[in-house]
Amino acid sequence: MTNIEQRPPSFMEIVARQKIGDKAAEWQFFKWERIGDTNDFLVGLGETRKLLSGKNKGKGTWRGTDGRMLPHGNAVVTWEEMEAAKAKYEADTGNCSVCGNTGKSFASWSATDGTKYRNCERCNGAGKAPIAGVEAKT
Ligand SMILES: [Zn+2]
Repeated sequence: MTNIEQRPPSFMEIVARQKIGDKAAEWQFFKWERIGDTNDFLVGLGETRKLLSGKNKGKGTWRGTDGRMLPHGNAVVTWEEMEAAKAKYEADTGNCSVCGNTGKSFASWSATDGTKYRNCERCNGAGKAPIAGVEAKT
C-alpha cells in the first residue's frame, strides 16, 4: 500500500487562520459550509481541550466543561482567496498544490484494497508546481 507522507495543506484552513488572526494558531477546524449557491465558505475554528473521562476520553472537544463552545471564530473564505493561497503555496514551495509533492491523488478506498492513488492530474505525477517559474524535469 502506498504511504503518502506529504500532503498539501488545507487552503481553506490557511485563509481562515489568517482572517481570524494570531489567536487561531492553535485552534482546530470544526466546520465548513458553503454559503448558498456561491463558491464561498463559512469556516469555523475553535479552541479545543482533551476529554478527561467518558467513552471519548483522550479525544478533543470544542466544548468546555459547561457544555458551551470554547473560544472560537468564523471566517468567510472565498474561492478566489483559496486560489490565491494555492498560488502562493506553489510559488513559495515549488510543490504541486493538489498533491503536495507526492505526485499522487486519491482515487478510491475500500476495506479489501485500502486506499488507491492515481497520478496527480495537475502535475502529471511529478509533484512539482507546473507554474510559478519552476522548471519541469524533462
Ligand atoms: Zn500534483
